[in-house]
Amino acid sequence: MSQEVYRQLLEVMKKRGGEYSGMDLPEFFAMVEEMFTPQEAEVNNALPRGPVTAKDLAGQMGKDEREIEAILETMANKGLCMAFKVDQTNYYQGARFMPGILEFQFMPGKITERDKKMARLIHAYEKAYDQKTDRVKGAFPTARVITVDTLVKAGNQVHTYDQVQSIIDKSDPISVTTCFCRHAAVLREEDIHGMPNDTCMQFGPSAQFSIERLGGRKVTKQEAIEVLKRSEEAGLIHMSQNTTEDIGFICNCDRWHCFTVKNVLAKPKPGLYFNSGFEPHFDADLCTACGTCIDRCPPEALTLGDQDIPVVNLDRCFGCAVCATGCPTEAIAMANKPGFPAPPKDGKALKEALKMGQS
Ligand code: SF4
Ligand code: SF4
Repeated sequence: MSQEVYRQLLEVMKKRGGEYSGMDLPEFFAMVEEMFTPQEAEVNNALPRGPVTAKDLAGQMGKDEREIEAILETMANKGLCMAFKVDQTNYYQGARFMPGILEFQFMPGKITERDKKMARLIHAYEKAYDQKTDRVKGAFPTARVITVDTLVKAGNQVHTYDQVQSIIDKSDPISVTTCFCRHAAVLREEDIHGMPNDTCMQFGPSAQFSIERLGGRKVTKQEAIEVLKRSEEAGLIHMSQNTTEDIGFICNCDRWHCFTVKNVLAKPKPGLYFNSGFEPHFDADLCTACGTCIDRCPPEALTLGDQDIPVVNLDRCFGCAVCATGCPTEAIAMANKPGFPAPPKDGKALKEALKMGQS
């Protein structure tokens, strides 16, 4: 059953969608055969995208409930499926590779020989997948892209410090995990140039999952703000999935290791693919033309203009405010980007917005 179950897993992961969803490549099979035991792969293939109990899943599979529950528990603790509790009942659901399983592998921040092997196998699959995908023309990252000036962006969204602070203010619980992109780089023995690594934040149910299953650290609002400040100082971009007003996680990303940022930067107009809805304005009286903002800007959207103040290329600018937070003279103010759409209220509104954007 071994070979067959992994071929079925390929089809299941293709259907689940998301980034690096499932592609018939030798690197895919090398990765999943290390990631899932044959029994785990079989359970993964039977798991729906919606919540299910071990009892119901065992019934559907014609298997013993205790056997399936034990496999599901191991899988949840390995980050191979989602798990949560409602009224003392455990529910499980199938996860995508990304966002999902691939990130869950490195969020606990462990450094074992298996983690190192997993990091190499995942990296090899991502590279092989990328070679088969036209990043410049292709939809990004989960299904398709609607540019900012059309209606609403699909995929990921950049946040400014103030926006993240307001998410922190209203969320409970909050957890912090290792940045999976930089940790994967550490596991591959790459240099992350002293950038902070414990910077991924989860909120509400996502935080609960990360605390219970992925070694997430429960933090106070004050500790979360300190994580934010450290990220800010290091010039990291605050980013989340651009789905609805409810934000489940915030990544603090750099331009060298974050696969999302790297893929967006490969596009001719990165600022149209993700954006916070803000743009920098420069105060000519305060600017000393020191160039700090130009060096810090992740998408290299700034140049020094004729008047000796920076000029922004809005086709490249993410609106991340990394320039503003690093300016020694506070010469940069972030202002609303004219015509930028507000995020949809919920999943239904997002679908509607995406549909309208297609027409
Ligand atoms: S960091 Fe501030 S002072 Fe330096 S060039 Fe940029 S805007 Fe001017
Ligand atoms: S110009 Fe400023 S806001 Fe725009 S991408 Fe660069 S650092 Fe971020």
